[in-house]
Amino acid sequence: MNASGNDAALQTCVLTPIGRGAIATVAVRGATAAEIVGKYFCPNAGSSHLPIDRIRYGVWSRDADSAIGESIVVCATAETEIEIHCHGGRAAVEAIVGDLVASGAERIGGDSWLQGRSDNFLSSECQLALAATQTPTTAGIVLDQIRGALATATQAAIEQLRSANLEAAGQAIQTLIDRAPLGRGASKPFRVVIAGPPNVGKSSLLNRLLGYDRAIAYDQPGTTRDVLSARTTLGGWTIELRDTAGIHETAEAIEREGVQSARREVQSADAVLIVVDASVGWTPEHDEIAKLVPNPIRVWNKADLIDVEAMPDAAEKIFTSTLSQAGIDDLIAAILQQLIPQPHAAGMAVPITDRQLACLQEAQAAIASSDATSAAVHLQRLLRG
Ligand code: GDP
Ligand code: ZN
Repeated sequence: MNASGNDAALQTCVLTPIGRGAIATVAVRGATAAEIVGKYFCPNAGSSHLPIDRIRYGVWSRDADSAIGESIVVCATAETEIEIHCHGGRAAVEAIVGDLVASGAERIGGDSWLQGRSDNFLSSECQLALAATQTPTTAGIVLDQIRGALATATQAAIEQLRSANLEAAGQAIQTLIDRAPLGRGASKPFRVVIAGPPNVGKSSLLNRLLGYDRAIAYDQPGTTRDVLSARTTLGGWTIELRDTAGIHETAEAIEREGVQSARREVQSADAVLIVVDASVGWTPEHDEIAKLVPNPIRVWNKADLIDVEAMPDAAEKIFTSTLSQAGIDDLIAAILQQLIPQPHAAGMAVPITDRQLACLQEAQAAIASSDATSAAVHLQRLLRG
C-alpha cells in the first residue's frame, strides 16, 4: 500500500480524451489487473478468462444482482495489462475508473502511464495521439508512427551522426521538421478563423464550408460569446472553423466587431480568411485586420453581385459566392495549401507531438553548432522520452 492507501502496483489510466469520442479506453495494469477486472466484468458468453490480444464482449456491473451495466469490450494486451473499451461519455468512464480505484488501483495521467513504457516510448506516445484523431487520413498518419516510421527515420539520423555525416543527418532532420504540419493536423484540429467586417458573408461562408463533404458538424462547448465555432473535415483533415462575429451586431460594437475579434483570434489561428464583400470592396477595416495576420487568405465574397472579369488582378483572387457555391472549391484548396504545404504519403515519418518536434529542433540546433554528440542525445530523447 502507498500513502494514499492504494495498491501501488495497480494503476489505471484513461487513454482517450474524456467525453470526446464515441468510445473511451481505460487501461489497468499490475499483477492483480485481471483479478480486479474480473470482479466487474461479466462476459456475454463463456468464462471471464482473458486471453492476450483477444476481445471479449460483456457488461461492467458492480454486483451480480445489479442489472445495470455498461456494455464494454475487454482485451488483455499483456499478462498484467488490460484495456477496457466503454462508452465514451464521462459518466461511463468515471464509473469504471471509480470501481478500479475502489479496488485499490491508483489513477495516473497519460504521461505517467507512458513512463513505465521506456522500451517503446515513442510508439506509446503516438498511441495516445491516435485517440484524438477523427478522420482516416489523420489516423493513418498516427498509425504509421505507431508502426515505427518516425522511430526508423530517427534511428537512421542517429547512425548518420555516429558516422560523422552531419550534413546528411541535418537534411534528414529538416525533412521531418518540415512535415510537422502533418503531425500537427493529425493530433488536433486546424483552426481556421473567418474574419472581416459585418455583413460581408462570414457566417454564410462558414455554413458553406460546413456543408461541404456533408461533414458532421457540431458546436464546440466553451467557445467565447462572440465567436461561433464548429468542426468539419476538409480534404480528410479535421478543421475547426471560427466565425469571429458569431453573435451578431450588438449595438455598441457594430463597427469594430471584425477587428476586435480578429485581434483575439488570429494568435491561435492556423489560417485566417479575410472576407471582403466584392460589391463593396476592400475597406480600411480590412487593412486593420490584415495588419494582424502575416499571411491572410483574402476571400472576395458575393462575387455573384459583380463582374469578376472586370476586377483588377482577377486571376490571382479567390472569388466566392455563398449563394451559388461558386469558388468554394478554390477557397478550400487555398486553405489546405496554407495548412499543409507538404503533401502526405502513406508510410511517411512524421513528428506528431510538440515534444517530438522540439527534440528534432533541438537536434537541428546542435548540428548547426557542429555538436553531433548533443544532436544524437536529442534524437535518443525523441525515441525514449
Ligand atoms: P456576416 O455578418 O459577415 O457573417 O455576413 P452574413 O453571412 O450574415 O451575410 C450577410 C448578408 O449577405 C446576408 O443577407 C447574406 O444572405 C448575404 N450574403 C452572404 N453571402 C453572399 C453571397 O455570396 N452573395 C450574395 N449576393 N449575398 C450574400
Ligand atoms: Zn456573421
